[in-house]
Amino acid sequence: MATTTVEITPTLDATAIQELALALRGPLLQRSDPSYDAARTLYNAMIDKHPALIARCSTVADVIAAVNFARDNDVLVAIRGGGHNGPGLGSVDDGLVIDLSAMNGVRVDPQARTARVEGGALLGDLHHATNAFGLATPSGIISTTGVGGITLGGGIGHLTRQFGLAIDNLLEADVVLADGSFVTASATEHPDLFWALRGGGGNFGVATSFLFRLHPIPNLYAGPMLWPLDRSAEVLRWYRDFITNAPDALNGFFAFLTVPAVAPFPEHLWNQKMCGVVWAYTGEAPEETFAPIRAQFGPPALDWVGPISHPALNSMFDGLYPAGDQWYWKADFVTEIPDEAVDIHVQYAAELPTGKSTVHLYPIDGVAGRVPKEATAWNYRDAKWGMVMVGVSPDPADNARMIDWTRAYWAALHPYSAGGAYVNMMMDAADEGQDRVRASYGDHYDRLAQIKATYDPNNLFRVNQNITPA
Ligand SMILES: Cc1cc2nc3c(=O)[nH]c(=O)nc-3n(C[C@H](O)[C@H](O)[C@H](O)COP(=O)(O)OP(=O)(O)OC[C@H]3O[C@@H](n4cnc5c(N)ncnc54)[C@H](O)[C@@H]3O)c2cc1C
Repeated sequence: MATTTVEITPTLDATAIQELALALRGPLLQRSDPSYDAARTLYNAMIDKHPALIARCSTVADVIAAVNFARDNDVLVAIRGGGHNGPGLGSVDDGLVIDLSAMNGVRVDPQARTARVEGGALLGDLHHATNAFGLATPSGIISTTGVGGITLGGGIGHLTRQFGLAIDNLLEADVVLADGSFVTASATEHPDLFWALRGGGGNFGVATSFLFRLHPIPNLYAGPMLWPLDRSAEVLRWYRDFITNAPDALNGFFAFLTVPAVAPFPEHLWNQKMCGVVWAYTGEAPEETFAPIRAQFGPPALDWVGPISHPALNSMFDGLYPAGDQWYWKADFVTEIPDEAVDIHVQYAAELPTGKSTVHLYPIDGVAGRVPKEATAWNYRDAKWGMVMVGVSPDPADNARMIDWTRAYWAALHPYSAGGAYVNMMMDAADEGQDRVRASYGDHYDRLAQIKATYDPNNLFRVNQNITPA
């Protein structure tokens, strides 16, 4: 049983707070708590939110108590998984954060090839647990991202072309709904909710656990390959044609970046702007497969592609992108990259505003592209890439410059896009506009709004890329 000293928060009822604290196994943090600041800190240091209460839940029972408290006391509520969300939608000013970070268990069933994952686990927890059995589920490129947020938005990663999006491997989810009830959503139980969870973000309830399908990956041959920026137009033109015709076993996301001035990067490349592809190959004969890629433009300036474990690949960039940097990003889905768009990329890539700023084109074809559009709430099955341009810096003094660059770059390329963005790689509606949120759910918005009306008619869960109940 948790105990707390009640702070008098003017808009919140002290007795109700005391009752919530008594109902939780995990701690209920308030502003005077010594661990409050650490608990409220988000991955993106550009976002600085001060919740009134943080319920660090340790069980489903805690989540139910927190949801009931928020609803009964009309308190704005945010759900926090990994805290990685760009606009900080895992937290809320003056409201209640349902913090799932202590609920991070993973149980692998190697016979059934499934993993049961609690709602606050990080990708690193998931990939570490499954790798012990030679198994993996596709999701993400940085291990500190939360399984909860990334999955509910879709889940793009190193193995998307091989096995689909994270949601394409989701078998069921346990969810605490706005009325405090607990349901399991799957193809056979609450199939409408299950459909909506797979791309509809955190709109429908608190997902306390996920069940994923796992795949054997006996041979993973992966890593980054870089070329000089002055070759980038020809590299991008080659990449766009090559990857869309490659076998499913080959994933590779394209990037513009600046080589960090730090070992183990070769010193002669430090601070150079470059383009590259981060490959992930799970097929046979990797050396033979990569020989023509390596020969395409002469030897790459950097070639770190080789045998690697899935957790090592998934954490390869963690050190370059720790929590606490400033982040601002904009995104779009892309169906094709015509030569004019290539030229725009090259122009803006030459002006990357900070050393950590980057642009990624994540392939979403292969297995992900063959899942029927109506099967899940993810709208853009016809698109070939999820594109994101992101300004990143440890220094807030860079913010204005990198926001300007991101917006201008995005605006120049938006006419070549499929219209909407990946909901997990946008800023919030205040920054982007509600029309952008709507465009990103696309043709599925109306159906999502109807399901929202069934499961959350009063929009209790609205600190997210929000869907208004129909
Ligand atoms: C460094 C970095 C790398 C990234 N890499 C990738 C990538 O490779 N592929 C990709 O697809 N995306 C990637 N993303 C984007 C990422 O998917 C989103 O930022 C996502 O929102 C993060 O989820 P989270 O649980 O960490 O975030 P949080 O901030 O905790 O939550 C984000 C949103 O999800 C909701 N939510 C989280 N958990 C739950 C839950 N259990 N139940 C209900 N709602 C929940 C929250 O309410 C909130 O609206 C990356 C982001 C960063 C910052």
